[in-house]
Amino acid sequence: MRMCTRCGGRLERIHRSFVERFAYMAIYECSACKDISSVPRRYRYHLGKHARCPKCGTLRITKLRVRDHIDPLSRSPLNLLERICGGALFHCRYCRWQFYDRRNALPEKPPAQSAKSPEAVAPAGR
Ligand SMILES: [Zn+2]
Ligand SMILES: [Zn+2]
Repeated sequence: MRMCTRCGGRLERIHRSFVERFAYMAIYECSACKDISSVPRRYRYHLGKHARCPKCGTLRITKLRVRDHIDPLSRSPLNLLERICGGALFHCRYCRWQFYDRRNALPEKPPAQSAKSPEAVAPAGR
């Protein structure tokens, strides 16, 4: 059972708003002092379609063929799990950090638009 960090009272799980559901695993309210505490979604970067850096969340990561021995490799249990499950090795250029991910990286360029709809072609915003 969860305890209040302020008074040691019993924490009760309370309803989350629509927006809060994306950011938090759960939100608790102390039954004694009414202090609110939340459990952030630490592994939210491990959800979704594309591989992303577990530290900063960027999708702009590079796939590595071999491990770089200068930049550190993630030691989190989730990273180990991704590796066991056959994840590929990726590198985040912002964090200078390596990690495993089972998903594919987001393609550098979006797929080419159909020639039938030239009006849909937007200028490349880099
Ligand atoms: Zn409390
Ligand atoms: Zn990063």
